[in-house]
Amino acid sequence: MANILITGGSRGIGAEAVRQFTAAGHKVVFTFHKSEIAADILRQETGATPVRCDVKHHDSVRIAVDKAVSVLGQIDILICNAAIADYGLITDMDISRWEDVINTDLSGVFYCVRYVLPAMISRRNGCIITVGSMLGEVGASCEAAYSAAKAGVIGLTKALAKEVGPSGIRVNCISPGMIDTGMNASVSEYAADILVDKTPLCRSGAPEDIAKVMMFLASEDAAFITGQVISVNGGLVI
Ligand code: NDP
Repeated sequence: MANILITGGSRGIGAEAVRQFTAAGHKVVFTFHKSEIAADILRQETGATPVRCDVKHHDSVRIAVDKAVSVLGQIDILICNAAIADYGLITDMDISRWEDVINTDLSGVFYCVRYVLPAMISRRNGCIITVGSMLGEVGASCEAAYSAAKAGVIGLTKALAKEVGPSGIRVNCISPGMIDTGMNASVSEYAADILVDKTPLCRSGAPEDIAKVMMFLASEDAAFITGQVISVNGGLVI
């Protein structure tokens, strides 16, 4: 059984990942930022340990990683899932909004990797799963910062896979399509219906669809997979 750190585990996809990994017998620490009550309910439900962390600040990440190591002993699997979305014309975007998205969605992944990786390299064993987005593959109008950050996550994943593969560490990115979580709460029913219409599998995704792929990539069944972007989008982007 593995020791796992999942960022952004308090809600949505991350919370479902906490449920699936703990149900399979793994030991899990997950981070939350604002959703303290949801994190505590998930702790009671799963036995996983919540740790508060703001991934856009490297000091907060360093402290959370230290806490995770003190609970788990070591981190075998790191899942960089925490992110925020942002919508609006690029000409209306002030600098602080850009920085918030890039610092959370891209730099936050770097900070987690930066603090977790040295011990993995020493042990010559580890697995890192990043969470990108189909928008990091194709871009979206009015989501420039998010698309740029997620494209950065894909680039970071591929570069890392090349750098740390010889140290026995696999790094892969899951690239979700439209998944029913709080992140899409502001998407209108009309826009969501259009996306479903364009999806060959005729539905939006559920957090379970992504968590199951996390489980696979974290498992020995994926032992020869690294540097890949696994799109889980019902065929919306092919
Ligand atoms: P949610 O909005 O449901 O959950 C986001 C999670 O990230 C929460 O646990 C939240 O914690 C955490 N988080 C946000 N900001 C920070 C921060 N600064 N520091 C630490 N944690 C933070 O999102 P999803 O579950 O939908 O998304 C999970 C991943 O999947 C993200 O990487 C997202 O970009 C990606 N994705 C999602 C898609 C979708 O359609 N839902 C599509 C493509 C990609 P808290 O609530 O405690 O603040």
